Formats: sequence, C-alpha cells, structure tokens
Amino acid sequence: MRILVVEDDRDLSRQLGAALTEANYAVDFAYDGEEGHYLGEGETYDAIILDLGLPTIDGVTVLKRWRDAGLNMPVLILTARDGWSEKVAGFDAGADDYVTKPFRVEEVLARLRALIRRAAGHASAELDCNGVRLDTRNGRVSVDGAPVKLTAHEFKVLSYLMHHRDEVVSRTELTEHIYEQDFDKDSNTIEVFVGRLRKKIRSDLIETVRGLGYRLVDTSKSGPGR
Ligand code: CA
Repeated sequence: MRILVVEDDRDLSRQLGAALTEANYAVDFAYDGEEGHYLGEGETYDAIILDLGLPTIDGVTVLKRWRDAGLNMPVLILTARDGWSEKVAGFDAGADDYVTKPFRVEEVLARLRALIRRAAGHASAELDCNGVRLDTRNGRVSVDGAPVKLTAHEFKVLSYLMHHRDEVVSRTELTEHIYEQDFDKDSNTIEVFVGRLRKKIRSDLIETVRGLGYRLVDTSKSGPGR
C-alpha cells in the first residue's frame, strides 16, 4: 500500500513518514499544495494524508482539483483545532475522513487502515483468505493459526493482493503500490516476491494469470472443486 503525505510542517511529516514506514507502507512526501497536487494526480496512491493549511495552493483547492479530475483515492485531511468550517469545506471538497491537530499518530494510522480497507470493500481489520490471516492493525500474518515471518516487501505484496482478492492484479499495478516514487522500480522483482510468498505460505495461494498478472482466490467462498 502506498501513501502520499502532503504536509508542510517538516517535523510532522517526518513523524508521519516514520510511523507509516514502520507499518510497511510505501510513502511519498510533498511539502506544498502544488507539489502535492502534482503527485496525487500523476502517481498511484492507496490513500492520501492532506494538510489543509499549505503553501502555494491550499489543501481544500488541491482536493477539489483531484476530485474534479475524477480521482477517487481515499483522502484523510489534517485540520486545525476548532476548525469546524475547515472540516466542512474539506468534506464538501471530497475528503473521506479527518484528524484534528495535534493528533496521535496511532489515530491517523487507524483511520488510514479503515479508509484503505473500506475502499477495497472490506469492513474487518483482519483479512482472511483460505486460512491465511493478515491483521492490518499490527501487520501480523498467520497460516492456519501459525505465525509467518515476512520481509517488508513480501508483506506489501501479500497485503495488496489480500485487499484485492479475487481480482487480477498486474505486475505493474503491484509495482505502483509497493514502491515509493524514487525507488528504482523493477517489475521483475515482483515475481521474486510472489515466489517467496508461495514458498513461505502455500504454493497454490497466488494464482498466475498468464499474460495478465496475479490473483489471490478465496476458494472458501466459491466452494469446493474450483
Ligand atoms: Ca500546514
């Protein structure tokens, strides 16, 4: 999962970045409205954290422009304390949730997790597929109850596929969602991560759809014989 943080307060941005990286998100940063608008429009994000008080272009305008352009990624706005009119303007511009400053990073992370799983059509914080469990709250993965240790990249690939299970996900799409903007992206490495996941979890967990990509099929829902 890849997140964009648009926040001009460098300390706050660093703090959010550290917590997000620790929670296995790929994170990009923008420090003013113009840069934020540009990245949000040109790159692919699973969610965006957007401060409203920004230099060059204010957050509400940035958000309006994204929505006018048809972009529907979840956006969590950061608002000033007592800024009720700011919140209203933010929601009217297309925000999905907000956190008031000063905040606990844990709350931002929890709201973000909820936005991401809702956007992918899941209500529960624990994703479950054929005995594989991924707890989005703490990043723990288990298979039939036994814990499995994954590297950050393996986790990112599995998490994306589990959020989008039963969908065919191309290697390009996976690449876009697990790496930061500046990362030297190589979609061949995806194959390596998928290979390791099959080895660590189960060989038939991730299906290869020839020429298209990968699919994690929830066989428990489609019944036996599939
Ligand atoms: Ca600000």
